[in-house]
Amino acid sequence: MAASHIHPHRELPEVVHDCRAPSSAARCRSNGFQKSQKDSGYTTLNHTRRETKAFLTDEDELYQFDDLTKVNPVTTTTVLKCLQARYTFNVFYTNAGCTLVALNPFQPVPNLYSHGIMKEYHTAPRPQELKPHIFTVAEEAFRNVQSLIEPVNQSLIVSGESGAGKTWTSRCLMNYFATVAASSTSAKCQGNVERIEKRVLDSNPVMEAFGNACTLRNHNSSRFGKYIQLQLNRSQQLEGASVQTYLLEKTRVAYQAPSERNFHIFYQIMKGATEEQRLEWGLPEAAEFFWLPNADKMLEEDQFEETKDGMLHLGIDRDTQEQVFRILAGLLQLGNVRFSVATDESHPCDLKEKATCFLKRTANLLKVSEEGLLEQLRVRTITAGRQQQIFKKPCSKRECSTRRDCVAKVIYAKLFDWLVKVINGSICSDSFRWTNFIGLLDVYGFESFPQNNLEQLCINYANEKLQQHFVAHYLKAQQEEYAAEGLESSFVSYQDNQSCLDLIEGNPISIFSLLNEESRLNRLSDANKFKTRLQAALTSNHCLSWDMFSKDPNFTVTHYAGKVNYQIEGMMEKNKDPVPPELVQLLQNSLDTFLKKLFPFEMKEQNDNKAQHKAVTVVSRFKGSLERLMRILNSTTPHYIRCIKPNMDCKPLHFKSEEILSQLEACGIVETINISAVGFPIRVPYQHFLERYGLLRTYWQCHFKNAASFNGCSPAKKRKGSSSTDGSTEALQVTVQDILTNVLTGQSAI
Ligand code: ADP
Ligand code: MG
Repeated sequence: MAASHIHPHRELPEVVHDCRAPSSAARCRSNGFQKSQKDSGYTTLNHTRRETKAFLTDEDELYQFDDLTKVNPVTTTTVLKCLQARYTFNVFYTNAGCTLVALNPFQPVPNLYSHGIMKEYHTAPRPQELKPHIFTVAEEAFRNVQSLIEPVNQSLIVSGESGAGKTWTSRCLMNYFATVAASSTSAKCQGNVERIEKRVLDSNPVMEAFGNACTLRNHNSSRFGKYIQLQLNRSQQLEGASVQTYLLEKTRVAYQAPSERNFHIFYQIMKGATEEQRLEWGLPEAAEFFWLPNADKMLEEDQFEETKDGMLHLGIDRDTQEQVFRILAGLLQLGNVRFSVATDESHPCDLKEKATCFLKRTANLLKVSEEGLLEQLRVRTITAGRQQQIFKKPCSKRECSTRRDCVAKVIYAKLFDWLVKVINGSICSDSFRWTNFIGLLDVYGFESFPQNNLEQLCINYANEKLQQHFVAHYLKAQQEEYAAEGLESSFVSYQDNQSCLDLIEGNPISIFSLLNEESRLNRLSDANKFKTRLQAALTSNHCLSWDMFSKDPNFTVTHYAGKVNYQIEGMMEKNKDPVPPELVQLLQNSLDTFLKKLFPFEMKEQNDNKAQHKAVTVVSRFKGSLERLMRILNSTTPHYIRCIKPNMDCKPLHFKSEEILSQLEACGIVETINISAVGFPIRVPYQHFLERYGLLRTYWQCHFKNAASFNGCSPAKKRKGSSSTDGSTEALQVTVQDILTNVLTGQSAI
């Protein structure tokens, strides 16, 4: 896998994962629970009440807190201390109530994800009693989805900032599900499952080759979001999978920030092409391409073979692969086509020295006419007037470069879409064959750079949506339940991000709606005017502010994870994402059958000038796909994994408190812990409780006939006492025996 190249195997301290949690006695000792449990009068299911003194005095034992709800008091500092102690002991996973916090070790940890460990979690009667692990979360989802009583689709939402370990975690989770689903398969079906499993797993290196790149923050950064659904049949066998991708960062094809790189696949081709291919594709070893910066860094290039094999397993034959790689080589050549300023405005720009050769190679590889390509890059076609007259206008040097980049971006984006479609065609099962799914969401984390634009606005908007989902599904639901049960004292304040979402996507007026309006007006966008419109329309929203010191038009959004300043310049143009129709036509007329297929003729219509005002903008497309995703997530039982990046330099076992603190604050971990800590971590419907513990009834009758009541099952009733008829709380204490008796005799009125 990619990671092993990035962090070559080092001398590791012996970090071997033992799944057993510290013995319960040790746990009680370390957190003082024995007492508080009894005192609180809750059932043993509630292990989260903390009513005793602060526990953080004994720092030696801090690493044993495998649930942050046990830390007392819960503050970002104490949580941080606990995580640090665990990280020092090479313990990377910690529960935070309903969320699993995953610290990135930045080095391979032997035996942490082995088949042996998978088996331990999969076969444990109660995996949650083992040490916190992503496999605990996975196993819980796997058991829920196969529950005979109430099978519900599951989603595992993996979040965190770039480099925190989301993709790694998702990969391990996919491995886990593929392994356990295969183990529950009968020998007869084994062959089929293994084939699906292999294809599902093979889709990872292929998608990473085309969709990942080396950035300043992560050597293997995913430049797209993905939601994978693992499809299971009634017998819990893996039938197939489907992938949905979000917002590929296609600008990377034509622009890479300093010290960053293009998508891995370009480097893989450059390194892995045969002599024959080099000759055909114009890629001599010493070739230098503007769009292939930092090619000297030895990262993923050796993985060309793995990518090709993966493609083959997914059904992309060697010939098609050649066609794909030839087009990509064509894009590299295109990047070297540079223009000089025209001597006269009425003349098209000239090509820079040597660029003619690259233009020729591009045209050959894309199988389009060389003259046609040059013309379309340098001359704009304008349709105007009632008669829809066509004018030609030479482009400025800058416009020529924009058109060149546009060709590259549109081809790459289409290629990526095609790849995802092929992958889905290869791994997706017929809908009648599967009944339930487990979804894995791996989307880019919150981003805040010195310069932010539309891409960051979309990414941060997606994170706001996920945060809202978390708040709605967990925090709000918990609070509402407490309110319904009368546990007013349990309220914990938390940040609701609705106003931020209103600002970005709300109706009728929001940043998105104003951006879309600008796009439809089909006029030259003016950043200052747009800022004035924002000021006039949205100033009342407290999440919007301005950086007064910046000379460029900008706005600042207060996100749940912090403030981000966005530059307005270029935002409207990016939102339109225009592809001149004449460029599309050029590609549609290519003699390359594969390239032609990527641009079906309907595209012409979408891009002609008349349809421009109706064209779907980037933000509306993104909003639409995110809304579909949220609908799916809302229909599933969510599980949350928060990945944390312990240091920004990706150094193994380096715990940088300040950097972690800001991530903990950004994901509202303290609120999450507080809310989890006041509640019951496990909720069992009475009927299920009785099915499981009904047998105890006889035991209770014999031993506790006149004993004190056991009020664990309905703390709310006891606390509130509102439904009391005689006003005494005592009268409301519901004994387990009562519950058993009532429900067993059919009066399940509790
Ligand atoms: P993200 O998807 O959040 O941007 P990645 O999953 O790509 O981050 O992780 C970044 C790098 O961190 C990986 O390439 C790998 O080197 C390392 N890494 C992440 N998680 C682990 C882990 N559990 N064990 C070992 N290394 C890890
Ligand atoms: Mg990633």
